[in-house]
Amino acid sequence: MAQLIQGNTGEWEIVIGMEVHAQVTVQSKLFSGASTEFGASPNSQVSLVDAAMPGMLPVLNEKCVEQAVRTGLGLNAKINTYSVFERKNYFYPDLPQGYQISQFLHPIVGTGEIEIDLPDGSVKTIGITRLHLEQDAGKSLHDQHPSKSFVDLNRSGCALMEIVSEPDIRGAEEAAAYLSKLRMILQYLGTCNGNMEEGSMRADVNVSVRKPGDELGTRCEIKNVNSVKAVQMAIDYESRRQVEIIEDGGSIKQETRLWDPNKGETRSMRSKEEAHDYRYFPDPDLLPLEFEQSWVDEIKQTLPELPDEKKHRFMQSYGLGTYDASVLIAARARADYFESVANDRDAKMAANWVINELLGVLNKNGKELEDSPISAEQLGGLIDLIADDTISGKIAKDVFADMFETGKDPAAIVEEKGLKQVTDTGAIEAIVDEVIAENPDNVEQYRSGKDKLFGFFVGQVMKKSQGKANPAVVNDLLKKKLS
Ligand code: ADP
Ligand code: MG
Repeated sequence: MAQLIQGNTGEWEIVIGMEVHAQVTVQSKLFSGASTEFGASPNSQVSLVDAAMPGMLPVLNEKCVEQAVRTGLGLNAKINTYSVFERKNYFYPDLPQGYQISQFLHPIVGTGEIEIDLPDGSVKTIGITRLHLEQDAGKSLHDQHPSKSFVDLNRSGCALMEIVSEPDIRGAEEAAAYLSKLRMILQYLGTCNGNMEEGSMRADVNVSVRKPGDELGTRCEIKNVNSVKAVQMAIDYESRRQVEIIEDGGSIKQETRLWDPNKGETRSMRSKEEAHDYRYFPDPDLLPLEFEQSWVDEIKQTLPELPDEKKHRFMQSYGLGTYDASVLIAARARADYFESVANDRDAKMAANWVINELLGVLNKNGKELEDSPISAEQLGGLIDLIADDTISGKIAKDVFADMFETGKDPAAIVEEKGLKQVTDTGAIEAIVDEVIAENPDNVEQYRSGKDKLFGFFVGQVMKKSQGKANPAVVNDLLKKKLS
């Protein structure tokens, strides 16, 4: 379902490769012991190493390496037990060292792949080129003073994983699915919180266009896009811009562009720098990074069930469709909640209540599942009450609304409000007789062939019983008495 652009000269294919920077979930920085906590006051989390004081030496944080390996395993990728930290040299006011320690020729993680789920229910595999570890830079603050800029070095030296994809992504929808799936995997692994608003995950989006079947076109790279929505809008804008230029007889200059969310357009930032412009060389302060395969195997043992495995298991063992399974696995807590509800119950019914009722009402109230007033046991209890015919599905919705409001147990609400379904045939029969006696005209018409009226009688009986009559019994009795 590649997204094509209809130009004046025919159809164009959009080709995308992404470089995602993900901040590693870890307490201290990649080469120093300073804290990585978000939101601290400026320059309160800066060690002498992070400020590049003369003579300070970097010391590698083992936990960051472990997190990178974990992530690599989660991306089904090759883990390189030998990798090298190199200096990437450039000047910027928020980079006191004058270089960033990164990895270049020998990254810690090599090729891998992930599955993405598309809105039409299909699945596509996107190749991962590599993952490498690098330091983040500080932050320039231009909005604190009318004529001065400030620098905050709290972020300086924080560990980033740069995850590079193959140019396998075709269009905005696939790009959104890729980012969402990547974020989900990182969150499941606990290696990055995936919070795009706080900048813990940012994407550089490389876009080019070509006629289907042609060689790759020249790409532009849109830097630091910080939401899934923005990535989609930037791709739509940029791909059209490129098609228009080429169709007007021009050509695409390889360059770095910025997404302007206010104007809804990308604009040129600088011409593309090449790797050799950075004068990469192995950092003489750091030995090559080497570890044993047995350590990788140990980490592998601790991986949780990942989103795709979980999705496949939900489809297989609970008989769910792709859509339901994808919604339920979107967050680990959600999947766990569903499994507690589904435990020994009708799984499709459980999925239905979680997705359509619970997630719906949480969403409407701006709440997260973590703040749900209804626990998984309580929702399970409600389903039990339906299953054993204590209440009808219709009454269950009212009980559910009550549970959401009060946090009470479903059985208590049913008891308190006297909502128990009436299955006692005698009691229902009395109501059926009443309804038949009160509506002679309708009875007449029904008997002379107007079958549709059956629903009217059911409705009347249910109304008189305040929704509590067992629908199956009502149906049986009405059929008997009306025939
Ligand atoms: P750099 O690090 O200089 O940006 P890379 O070769 O590492 O260059 O590529 C970066 C990203 O650009 C990768 O995600 C890759 O898939 C993507 N890419 C490469 N060529 C193209 C292209 N013609 N169109 C779209 N994306 C591309
Ligand atoms: Mg790049």
